Amino acid sequence: MAEPQRVRDLPEDVDTDDCMTSYTHIYSPDLLKDQVAFITGGGTGIGLRIAEVLMRHGCDTVIASRNLEKLTEAAKKLMAATGRRCLPLTIDVRQPQTISAAVDETLKELGRIDILINNAAGNFLCPAISLSFNAFKTVLEIDTLGTFNTSKVVYEKWFKDHGGAIVNISATLGYRGQALQVHAGSAKAANDAMTKHLAVEWGPSGVRVNTLAPGPISGTEGFHRLGGNIADSMGAFSSIPLQRAGNKTEMAHSVLFLASRASSYVTGHIMVADGGSWLTSANDVSMLLGIASSQSAKL
Ligand code: NAP
Repeated sequence: MAEPQRVRDLPEDVDTDDCMTSYTHIYSPDLLKDQVAFITGGGTGIGLRIAEVLMRHGCDTVIASRNLEKLTEAAKKLMAATGRRCLPLTIDVRQPQTISAAVDETLKELGRIDILINNAAGNFLCPAISLSFNAFKTVLEIDTLGTFNTSKVVYEKWFKDHGGAIVNISATLGYRGQALQVHAGSAKAANDAMTKHLAVEWGPSGVRVNTLAPGPISGTEGFHRLGGNIADSMGAFSSIPLQRAGNKTEMAHSVLFLASRASSYVTGHIMVADGGSWLTSANDVSMLLGIASSQSAKL
């Protein structure tokens, strides 16, 4: 008879935007040796942990977003924890010229790009009726236009001639029309389509395009803003098949698979890493409105 499965076999993580004090490799530590990854939103949350885990597998990274101070602090922590290079660069994914300048700087400083992680996003809970036209537009601009802009610049400047792997960070919000999330759900649904379109068009250039769709992930701004701590204390995660939120290292491990040669024949794929959450979690407008108002009361 098969041994019972260990459901609590979680990788290390820390809830803050710090690096892990210990890390147990699952994959070969050389998996990404001397590769370079460009990670949007790599200075915080899931993006920072993705940067750390890729670096712990031999990769140098660029972490790119708007706040240089935050990025510089994160880059110092990442280099100290992993011994690899990390270049903090300012971009706004809504402005292609800022991406273009950062990609030029990356190629000048690090000489190549093997992996692009489109992780930058903005999100909050808001009923559609209260969402301003501008708020809806801004989320689409950051999440969707930002993913297209960054992919196109990196493709034109490097991937078209050298190949590479793109991993987009999505969400499961649109699968069942999650209440209070029409902005992010619509933006990520567009990105999931973009994953397939670009996989088809860029496959012949040796570019794989895949997506990771996380569920609720602890120790992130998204988790905090979307009421994760309150949902946890209310026992909401007991309705998830795996009975818990995920952690950032688990997301980074899924990205590592999609970004590396471990998935060399995989493209156009949306990989859901949510403990089965979207299949069973409540999509109750009144309950979510309660969480949203208690969150905004705390802000
Ligand atoms: P986070 O820490 O808030 O990360 C978002 C990052 O995006 C920040 O580092 C931010 O940096 C950057 N950013 C925002 N606007 C930008 C812009 N215009 N240009 C460039 N960078 C920009 O959030 P997170 O929770 O870790 O989320 C990371 C990804 O996972 C997102 O794509 C999110 O949708 C997805 N996700 C998260 C969860 C979750 O539970 N946390 C669940 C499902 C999906 P600056 O402020 O410096 O620009």
